[in-house]
Order: sequence, then C-alpha cells, then structure tokens
Amino acid sequence: MQDLTHQRCHHHQFREAVARCPECGHFFCRECITEHADRVLCASCLGKKLGPDGARLNRFKWLFQLGHFFLGFMILYILFYYLGQILLAFPSSFHEGTLWQSGWWTGS
Ligand SMILES: [Zn+2]
Ligand SMILES: [Zn+2]
Repeated sequence: MQDLTHQRCHHHQFREAVARCPECGHFFCRECITEHADRVLCASCLGKKLGPDGARLNRFKWLFQLGHFFLGFMILYILFYYLGQILLAFPSSFHEGTLWQSGWWTGS
C-alpha cells in the first residue's frame, strides 16, 4: 500500500490525492474520482467504461427528438385547426351581442 499523502492529483497538481484509479493507475483528488459499481474510478476511465452504452443511446436520441418534434407539431396543428373550427362555428348573434339576451340562464 502506497502512501497517498505525498501524491498529487493527476489533474490538480496542488491537490492531495485521495485515491488511485485502478484502471489507469493515476492518483486523483476527491473531485476527480467517482464511485461506479462499487469501484472507484477517475472521470476519464468512467467515461471510457460508459462509452459504448452512451454511444448506443445517442444513436437513437435524434430519432426520439424528431418524433417529439412531429408530435408537438401535430398537436399544435390539431389544436389550431379545432380552434379555427370553434371560432367559425360560433353563431353570428354572438358577435352582435344578442345571444346574451336570449340565453337559457335568463329563464326566458
Ligand atoms: Zn483512470
Ligand atoms: Zn483533481
């Protein structure tokens, strides 16, 4: 077991190292080291380990974004279409102000 107190972080030369990455063998400070699956790894080694999974996710990411875009566009289109239909379906008396005089709520 090596003495860590004399080691410096691989990224921060003025910071004391707290752990050694088992993958690359470099020493790292508390900020540069991360725990992953009960193992302590440096950020770059963790990125390498997660690399294939991340790339696989990114390959389909644009497809989801495209789908979301079209879904949002369709919803907006339908919304504005029905809004237009509703506005057109309003009786002309509504605009003339006579609808309020013969409403069911007046009891007449
Ligand atoms: Zn490493
Ligand atoms: Zn560091």
